[in-house]
Amino acid sequence: MVAGPPELAAGRALVADACRVLAAEGLVETVLGHVSLRVDERRLLVRARGPDEQGLRFTTPADVVLVDLDGHLQPGETDLRLPSELPIHTELLRARPDARAVVHAHPPEIVTCTVAGLGLRPVVGAYNIGAYRLARRGVPTYDYAGLIRDARRAGGLVAAMGDAGACLLQGHGLVTCAGTVEEAVLVALDLCQLARVTLACAATGRVPIEVDEDDAVDLPDLGATHRAQLWRFYAAHADEVLGGPPPGRRESPS
Ligand SMILES: [Zn+2]
Repeated sequence: MVAGPPELAAGRALVADACRVLAAEGLVETVLGHVSLRVDERRLLVRARGPDEQGLRFTTPADVVLVDLDGHLQPGETDLRLPSELPIHTELLRARPDARAVVHAHPPEIVTCTVAGLGLRPVVGAYNIGAYRLARRGVPTYDYAGLIRDARRAGGLVAAMGDAGACLLQGHGLVTCAGTVEEAVLVALDLCQLARVTLACAATGRVPIEVDEDDAVDLPDLGATHRAQLWRFYAAHADEVLGGPPPGRRESPS
C-alpha cells in the first residue's frame, strides 16, 4: 500500500469533509477534535492547525498534513501544529491493523453521559440499527479524563477499547476507528444519537426499556449501500449548514 499524490489529495479532502460533518452535526464545537486516515504502513494524514486556526467547521484540505507513526511531519508538508493528542491516532493505528481511520471528538451528549455514569445501552431498535448494534456489543469507556498526549495514556485507551470500533472517554469525548473515514464518522454519529435518547430517558426519571432479544432478529446490518447513503446525506448537509463546499475540495470526475 503506497499512496501517491492523487491518493494523498483525495485523502486530505476526505479528512476535511469528515471534520466539516462532525462540526455541522454538533460533535465538535470549536477548535478541538481531529480525524486521521492511514495512507500506508508508516504514514497517516491528520487534521492539524495553522496560525489562523478558526475551528473544525472551517477545515479545508490544506489543514490536513502527512505524518509518520512517530509523529514526524513528512518532507514537503506545511508546518502546521499537530494535535497534542496525536498519540490517540498513531497508537490506535499501530495496534489495530483493521483500522484505517480514527475520529476523536468531544460531543456534549457523550461527555454528559460519561459524567452522569449513564452507559449506552441497547434501548433503540430500528430507529438507529447502527447504534443498537454498537450498544448490544458494548461500548467501552476509558476511565481517564485528562489529555491523551503520550504513548502511555494512548496505550491505556487502546487497551480499554480492545477490538471495539468505539470508546468513550470519561469526561472528555469519544474515539472511533474503522476501515474508512466515512464509517468512523458514522459510528460517532450513531453513538451521539443514542446518547441523546439516553439523556432524554434519564431526564424522565424512568428506567429505559432495552430492546427485546427476539426483536434483534430484525435488526440486521443494513450494509454498505445504506452507509454510503448516510454519508452522502451528512456530507451534503454539512455543505448546506456551512454555506457551501470548502475551498480546495477535489470534486470527483463523474
Ligand atoms: Zn480530546
